[in-house]
Amino acid sequence: MSLKVYNVLTRKKEVFKPQEEGKVKMYACGITVSGDAHIGHAYQAIIFDTIKKYLEYIGYQVTYVRNYTDVDDKIIIKARQLGVNPLDYANRMIIKTDKELSALGVQRPTVQARATECIDDMIQFIQKLIDTKHAYAADNGNVFFSVSSFKEYGKLSNRSIDDSISGVRKEIEPGKLDDRDFALWKNAKDDEIFWDSPWGPGRPGWHIECSTMSMKYLGETLDIHGGGKDLIFPHHENEIAQSESLTGKPFSLYWIHNGLIKINNQKMSKSLNNSILIEDLLKKYNFEVVRMTLLENHYRSDVNVIDGIFEQNEEKIYLFYKLLHEIDLLSSSYEPDKLSSDYQEIDAQFRTAMDNDFNTSVAIANLYEYINVLNGLMRKKDIERLVNMKYALVTIYKVLGLLQQDPKKVLDDIKEKYIKLYNIDKEEVENLLKKRKEYKENKNYEEADKIRDELSNKGIMIKDRGAETEWDINIIPAKIS
Ligand SMILES: [Zn+2]
Repeated sequence: MSLKVYNVLTRKKEVFKPQEEGKVKMYACGITVSGDAHIGHAYQAIIFDTIKKYLEYIGYQVTYVRNYTDVDDKIIIKARQLGVNPLDYANRMIIKTDKELSALGVQRPTVQARATECIDDMIQFIQKLIDTKHAYAADNGNVFFSVSSFKEYGKLSNRSIDDSISGVRKEIEPGKLDDRDFALWKNAKDDEIFWDSPWGPGRPGWHIECSTMSMKYLGETLDIHGGGKDLIFPHHENEIAQSESLTGKPFSLYWIHNGLIKINNQKMSKSLNNSILIEDLLKKYNFEVVRMTLLENHYRSDVNVIDGIFEQNEEKIYLFYKLLHEIDLLSSSYEPDKLSSDYQEIDAQFRTAMDNDFNTSVAIANLYEYINVLNGLMRKKDIERLVNMKYALVTIYKVLGLLQQDPKKVLDDIKEKYIKLYNIDKEEVENLLKKRKEYKENKNYEEADKIRDELSNKGIMIKDRGAETEWDINIIPAKIS
């Protein structure tokens, strides 16, 4: 088997073959830090984090560059509203976003580039485009890319050059000669933040940032360029136009785009005010619950975040960790066999799923199958296989950032959360269980069952193990409002 990747540029699933054997150069567009990061940012970051980790898992050495856009219209407006310096504001948001992504288990990329650290490189890039007649400077200091100078414009988004209008009419952008052209450099208005340039004080346009930063750290041709599918046009189309006009070489061999987030079937948007912020998710759920919810989807499709979806996955994460914890309790002395047939089978199934265009959805579905196997082994007390399977799952699913925590701690945290949420008084539960035991001893099963029902209504499940009765919380999405 070899890795196959859906390439948006060719609209085909292709065998993945980077330029240099064993090495991958990957760039993904990062976050414009004009506000708090939301679940859409989390989705993209988690997808490309997983792609990087899988490429490493199958033996590639990956150089992954992700940027932060730390100067743009929205950042300037936001900083002005808050009465702070836009660069200070952007810096603060980068620190906050970094923390949140890392709390979601997203590894730091090899290079984390910031637009404002590469302004000189952008100015040089733009100057070369002007020198080769791919761009022009207007009298007012704006510089535009001339779309008609790049004959292949539209090849990524599959549209013809004539219907490729990125939305800004020339009347609105002074100095622009053609509606299709886009800004490479914007002159500074009023008291806006600016950098000096051959065309006067100003700042870079958004598209030129990514072309410059990716080439600076990865060279003229990337193996993989990624981003959300909403970036295909005009952002990525414009990146291709600038970059290929400059170098005459393909900008990226593979283009990978992830789907978008919907909230209860609706687009997530500022106007609907239905955004889910990463910080709020992390306050409510274990981070693996968030990863599981997002990776349960294949990355190319949209994720529909319906009410109760996180609780459903919280229940699953709870179940997984309960099993892992039970294995820990059974097996203190057995060392896992790293070449066991269970390990090899789980590894082979994982690779089959992921080699098919990073199909995390199938990889997670496999995980549910293993639960049944583990439960069966648990009944048979087959410690050897239980330990081997646990070792395999924890090692292999590291690629998806799942099953990586201390089981006991995850269980305690989730249990405590629901004890609070359901208003459960632990002492009262113990007393009810004592009473139930007495009823059972007196063969008064009717009363004993009443207590079971009463506990069930409080969100508590009970399980008899011989003479002992254990209780646990029951995560019921419907109960949670
Ligand atoms: Zn970009």
